[in-house]
Amino acid sequence: VEREYRGLRLPDRTRLTSQRRALLDTIADWPGSFTVVDIFERARKRSPALGVATTYRTVDLLRQSGSVRHLAGEERSTYVRCGPDHHHHLVCLACGSVEDTEECPLPSTAEIKRRYGFSLESHELEIYGKCRSCA
Ligand SMILES: [Zn+2]
Ligand SMILES: [Zn+2]
Ligand SMILES: [Zn+2]
Repeated sequence: VEREYRGLRLPDRTRLTSQRRALLDTIADWPGSFTVVDIFERARKRSPALGVATTYRTVDLLRQSGSVRHLAGEERSTYVRCGPDHHHHLVCLACGSVEDTEECPLPSTAEIKRRYGFSLESHELEIYGKCRSCA
């Protein structure tokens, strides 16, 4: 069972303290990709007692529930808000904006099995470039 706060899913027993709510509000309002430090610094303005350990824990809970996803291929730990349906991200290298795309360039599971004898379970793919406003 999960509880939901502003579209972010958390385990049911998670206590919604004011610090955690400040974190969730910050993540819900964040426009593109972010690091844990980005979120910590912004949320601390709403909730000065907030600790960095709570920030890491909360982002990790959201990652486990699929509400945020680690961006594949990023060296530093960069995350993005995310939904449960299969999709990929168009990530702008200039401004950090992230747009979802339902375009999935991978061949079907059956096709991959046929070609490589490989049983596909999941894949991660982000598409990097420049967004409409930065191109
Ligand atoms: Zn997503
Ligand atoms: Zn951009
Ligand atoms: Zn895909």
